[in-house]
Amino acid sequence: MQIIDGKQIAANIKSEIATEVEKLRSEHGHTPHLAAILVGEDPASQTYVANKEKACAEVGMVSSVYKLPATISQEELIKTIQFINTDDEIDGMIVQLPLPKHIVVNDVIESISPLKDVDGFHPVNIGKMVIGEPSFLPATPMGIMLLLERSGVVVSGKHCVVVGRSNIVGTPMSIILSRNLKNANATVTLCHSKTQNLPQICAMADILIVAIGKCEMIDKQYVREGATVIDVGMHRVPDASKKSGFALRGDVKFDEVSPLCEFITPVPGGVGPMTITGLIMNTLKAYKAKLK
Ligand code: NDP
Repeated sequence: MQIIDGKQIAANIKSEIATEVEKLRSEHGHTPHLAAILVGEDPASQTYVANKEKACAEVGMVSSVYKLPATISQEELIKTIQFINTDDEIDGMIVQLPLPKHIVVNDVIESISPLKDVDGFHPVNIGKMVIGEPSFLPATPMGIMLLLERSGVVVSGKHCVVVGRSNIVGTPMSIILSRNLKNANATVTLCHSKTQNLPQICAMADILIVAIGKCEMIDKQYVREGATVIDVGMHRVPDASKKSGFALRGDVKFDEVSPLCEFITPVPGGVGPMTITGLIMNTLKAYKAKLK
């Protein structure tokens, strides 16, 4: 069994990006810039945005955070996005989700310029991904493809089972895996909460990717011997032994499943660091597209 070290792979990719950012800065006099919009005071969202700022600093990119109150109207939020859309200094933008209930998320995403949509959530980028045109791929599935590639896991021709069909993880993951791309070309089964015989279907997977948001639901009955398991789940569970008071767990029962696996990602230190790396790669791509 090999543990896929997402932290190390992310560090390697960030170091490559830092070299490229420095080269572009000296040649073109502009540093790639990521803007994040943070609405409200949700502690998890604050942490995610702070981690994105930290990652930008690590690769020498500029970041800025627009902090807006939870009571902001949808109209005012969209005005801020439109301002960023036209700001030449900013190459990429994200709106941290979730948003307060009075705001229609899809309206907000559709107001982001597809050229700055480095989360890859805009329908134009989703559509391009589906038909195989160059686009910004959503950061988590993109990070998972990089994890597989850099760990030497061959995807082509394999049966991949993706559990979870959200617009940000499961659905784009299933599309990317099935396309005729480098280290993709998988045969894909996409499962969700209405899937019957889920354990049996998962146990047929060469590569099992789990993004269901159910803490440690996937135990050994879902996994065949020799499979690769990618755990996207992220859950805080109380843990008095930790300074923070909580520990992180995934959607997979790691201790029970890992002895069966050829490769497996841990939580934390698996998919999480790669999601931010995907975002940084997309910001660099947005900057380079502007140069062209
Ligand atoms: P969503 O809640 O948006 O989607 C969950 C999906 O799982 C849905 O498609 C749902 O099916 C399916 N599902 C739920 N319960 C079951 C079940 N019992 N059996 C089969 N399918 C089920 O979640 P996200 O995709 O946004 O996130 C999934 C997890 O990944 C979360 O823990 C989240 O915190 C984590 N995450 C981690 C990231 C990282 O960087 N590490 C990034 C993004 C997410 P249906 O459609 O039928 O309701």
